[in-house]
Amino acid sequence: MILRSFLIKNDALQSEKRHSTMILDSMILAGLKGLATLASGLGKQKKLFVLIYHRVLDVPDFMRPGEVDIQAFSWQMALLAKYFNVLSFSEAFEKLKTNSLPARAVCITFDDGYADNLHNAVPILKKNNLTATFFIASGYLDGGRMWNDSVIEAVRIMPKTELDLTNIELGLYPITTPAQKEAAARDIIIKLKYLEPKQRLRLSQKIAELAGAVPDNLMLTTGQLIQLHQQGMEIGGHTVTHPILAKLAPNLALQEIGDNKKALEKLLNTEIRYFAYPNGKLGKDYMPEHIDTVKKAGYQAAFSTQCGVVTVSSDFWQLARFTPWDKTPARFMFRMLTMYRNTAKNSIKQ
Ligand SMILES: [Zn+2]
Repeated sequence: MILRSFLIKNDALQSEKRHSTMILDSMILAGLKGLATLASGLGKQKKLFVLIYHRVLDVPDFMRPGEVDIQAFSWQMALLAKYFNVLSFSEAFEKLKTNSLPARAVCITFDDGYADNLHNAVPILKKNNLTATFFIASGYLDGGRMWNDSVIEAVRIMPKTELDLTNIELGLYPITTPAQKEAAARDIIIKLKYLEPKQRLRLSQKIAELAGAVPDNLMLTTGQLIQLHQQGMEIGGHTVTHPILAKLAPNLALQEIGDNKKALEKLLNTEIRYFAYPNGKLGKDYMPEHIDTVKKAGYQAAFSTQCGVVTVSSDFWQLARFTPWDKTPARFMFRMLTMYRNTAKNSIKQ
């Protein structure tokens, strides 16, 4: 009896504590909203915050610690819907050019074309009445797999305690624990990333062969991409095979950019107006001449992965994007606030 009344009292205390934490959290978020209104710019020259995502996982994945899962994406979208003004990029871009953006204007973007964008992201976006732009690498539709995913998925399922890649000069890795597997895949990806595209593909395929059955349903099918588009989501270009453009001959870069645009336009029967550079760092992943290639292909604007926010004086061919990695709404919003100061122009570091 005593124990029962103690438990009831304890439950009541806990729920009171939860309630006051919730009140405190919403007070903090309301305060941050006021600061965001100021930070996003007063008068006509307002700033546009563009978030970048890749995947929305079912549950947290030790092999992909940088990706959000359904639970995190849910509170992040609820936060954006409540405290910001989320626009489609085409609407935001028009408003940016005419100095008529609302305060706290935000766009949501996804790169690559993962199937979980349709299964997991779209229902959450719809629930919050939000829209997003999805940049698609068209060469991986219908069962394709990006080379980095081949490495991640292969290392994940390897039953051994050690991964010996010394015969292909990629080293020796202990892979007994999940943390070791994640570190091994990360290290291999760093070593492969800037190799010649053919060699990068060959080596990643070799690693996948060592593991056996690696999944081939990570990316969207053409049917799923059509559904994504029909759900009111905007589709953008992201090359055919997601190469490091800076490593390609000019004619191949033109082909990657142009063929991707044409394939998506044919499939969706609509004009593809915006582009995102694969990997997205100027001077490392793409060069100034690729900006001309993107313009010539008929695009209207392009995104990099440089951190920052967009203003009317930003380079519309290298728009900055950023997503906070924080695990709580208040910290996430606070980091967005700090990013409003970052409107640096793109430049190649000498
Ligand atoms: Zn990408």
